[in-house]
Amino acid sequence: MPSAERFETIVGLEIHVQLQTETKLFCGCANAFGGAPNSRTCPVCLGMPGALPVLNQRAVELAVRAALALGCEINLRSRFARKNYFYPDLPKGYQISQYDQPIAGRGVFAFDCEGRRAEVRLLRLHLEEDAGKSIHEGMPRSATSSYVDLNRCGVPLIEIVSEPDLRSVEEANAFLSGVRTTLLYVGVTDANMDEGSLRCDANISLRRRGAAHLNPKTELKNLNSFRFLRQALRFEIERQGALLAAGEPLTQSTRLFDERTGTTVSMRAKEDARDYRYFPEPDLVPIVLDEATVAAAAADIRELPLARLDRFTADFGVSPEDAAVLVEDRARADYFEALIGTGASVSEANNWVRNEIGRWLNAHSREGASFPVPAETLAGLLEAVRSGAVAVGVAGKILDRMAETGGTAAAIIAEEGLQQISTSAELAPVVDEIIDAHREEVEAFRGGREQVFGFLMGQVMRATGGKANPDTARKLLRARLEQ
Ligand code: ZN
Ligand code: MN
Repeated sequence: MPSAERFETIVGLEIHVQLQTETKLFCGCANAFGGAPNSRTCPVCLGMPGALPVLNQRAVELAVRAALALGCEINLRSRFARKNYFYPDLPKGYQISQYDQPIAGRGVFAFDCEGRRAEVRLLRLHLEEDAGKSIHEGMPRSATSSYVDLNRCGVPLIEIVSEPDLRSVEEANAFLSGVRTTLLYVGVTDANMDEGSLRCDANISLRRRGAAHLNPKTELKNLNSFRFLRQALRFEIERQGALLAAGEPLTQSTRLFDERTGTTVSMRAKEDARDYRYFPEPDLVPIVLDEATVAAAAADIRELPLARLDRFTADFGVSPEDAAVLVEDRARADYFEALIGTGASVSEANNWVRNEIGRWLNAHSREGASFPVPAETLAGLLEAVRSGAVAVGVAGKILDRMAETGGTAAAIIAEEGLQQISTSAELAPVVDEIIDAHREEVEAFRGGREQVFGFLMGQVMRATGGKANPDTARKLLRARLEQ
């Protein structure tokens, strides 16, 4: 029996999310990606003796907003703690985090997993500062030295810790995706995984199906993409499954995912809370929130992605799979609704958002590109296609021109002569030309090679720049071929 059937997979995630503030958590340095190494630092984030942290209130607001969106309970009183940290990318020698009194506690987060509703309990959500970055490769004296860039040092993070409620790779992936989409919806982060704004560690253990106890877990570090999360979990399921099948004990450890090999390698036996020697941060007062502030923050949260998914399936009759894709990106879902607001049908809106606009966005996916044509303007193009004024085949070209020039569909169609060629009188000469130019293929077709028809149709469409009405062209071509 393959191990996947004999053993149950138990996964919990710890997700670090960078908050989108102007400045760092405890100093005035800019919170931005990149920049010359160590250019965004000051005595506070460099851990100079005597420098004192001052809490960024915006980070507190964003953490509260995130916690509410994820369904966590807000703790009206929370405090910071020092967590001992033994690496040179945090020069203070400790990380300011939260330990026994996090800003948010228990909650239940629901998410969509392959069209099915799933839930995971959240243990906590806390605020903490990020560490800098050690650079071991690619520097002038990398053979003998390591380098450090402290620009990220002190950047505000929230850490979201789930209970070990996830039971498969797919569920873990869908949970992370649900959290990411939700936090993007409420605007607390850019969630850019390539830039490390969203990182994930996974705790995983296997046990025999039906067993009640939990085996020692492995903590997987450095999972900074959905693909890496899935690869690392799959590798661990195999590795731990093989150990269990051989009757060998599992041991608690921390393993690092190696993206080059797709495997995990042992880093260290996992330290526990004692090793971190947490103690209350004496330089910061506790965070005290009042009910009214929390209530106002809750009231400020608009519809969340999962509720929107339910509404799309219930009100518009969109399939759960389509709805999941639509709501995954807030701008995409907004545009879908805006198109429906112009009178487009649900399937039209779904098709345009997913296909032509999706294609445009892929081609222009540079930083922050959003589709520039307002839905009310694009509606003119939908109408032109619907009425047959233009052929479906040139719709993409018109959309590109609209995005480029800001013009209306009608103006572009008129200026560039893109009207659909629908009448037999216009199309017949084109069909005749194609037939004259492809004698061999025509003979082949007449000899029974039906598939040549597609080739000849393609020639007609090409000769008209895609403007031919396909139905009319098909009928004419067939009639001429069968003469
Ligand atoms: Zn600073
Ligand atoms: Mn952390």
